[in-house]
Amino acid sequence: MMARIFSGIQPSGELHIGNYLGAVKNWVQLQHQFESYFCVVNYHAITAAYDPPELQRRTHEMAVGLLAAGVDPSKATLFLQSQVPEHTELAWIFNTITPLGELERQVAFKEKAAKQEQVMAGLLNYPVLQAADILLYLAELVPVGEDQVQHLELSRVIARNWNARFSPEPPYFPEPQPRLTHTRRIVGLDGQSKMSKSLGNTIGILEEPESIWEKLRPAVTDPARQRKTDKGEPTKCPVIYPLHQAFSPEATVHEVETNCRQAKWGCIDCKKSLLTNIVNELTPIRERARDLQSNPARVTETLEAGAAKARVVASKTIRHVKEKMGLPLASNGG
Ligand code: ADP
Repeated sequence: MMARIFSGIQPSGELHIGNYLGAVKNWVQLQHQFESYFCVVNYHAITAAYDPPELQRRTHEMAVGLLAAGVDPSKATLFLQSQVPEHTELAWIFNTITPLGELERQVAFKEKAAKQEQVMAGLLNYPVLQAADILLYLAELVPVGEDQVQHLELSRVIARNWNARFSPEPPYFPEPQPRLTHTRRIVGLDGQSKMSKSLGNTIGILEEPESIWEKLRPAVTDPARQRKTDKGEPTKCPVIYPLHQAFSPEATVHEVETNCRQAKWGCIDCKKSLLTNIVNELTPIRERARDLQSNPARVTETLEAGAAKARVVASKTIRHVKEKMGLPLASNGG
């Protein structure tokens, strides 16, 4: 049997190049080698205040973005979390074997909770639902960015706890491992925090070249380069150089290094070269997205077919779990 992978993405905003380089590009490659489950995790997106019609629109747009970026429904199963009810069913079960202290020490929780007046239990329990997302498919690998590594550690704790209590030999749930890309953490346009939908420091993968340029032009570079004639150090350039490494051919990256160190290029020249390479990679994605946007019913059908496929595996896992836990199944198997 082909090993399984699972990964999810929130529909809380546009698909940006941080998501693309940190996770989605890897999904597109790995879908050829693994039985792949990719999920738009809309239940995760409702842990903070939101507008229902807006969420629905973003969920659809996220699916469009993923398909346009190369997720191929004939290879991978792409679906919406809310269309596979086993995710929340398993999450409840996992809540009963997750120590509170493990949840309270999650860095992402502490950061998000600090920004909110009233913290809902869903925010704290987020990694439990995430463990359910992954373990429902008995996934061994999870292609994600670096920010998700701590959550995955918790998924392993949950798998271990459940196995120890209900299925020690042989252990039923695998302990899922992260699969990182070279570009595991993309910094946002502010040059400080990670690129993230919630921080407004992103470049969307469907953005028009003009709009990308408006964002690249003012981006901070090596502070030593006040004038075009000042020599710079690419490794001190927080945004532009790492993006060159991600989007530009190797020869261009070398050119950037030399021309920056010898002040042969100004930062604007360097940014123009980067723009060309970003646009080269994103143009076919934008064109595919336009096509998909003109046929929303087709995207909806693709997602529903994905959910039906996902449920075959998810319901099998839930059946096994409930049997082991002494929880009777309904006569229709649910
Ligand atoms: P966001 O942080 O923008 O809300 P998600 O939490 O939905 O994004 O993450 C979706 C995927 O993209 C995850 O695998 C995450 O690790 C990855 N990811 C998000 N932001 C970045 C980034 N700046 N660099 C690398 N990977 C990222």
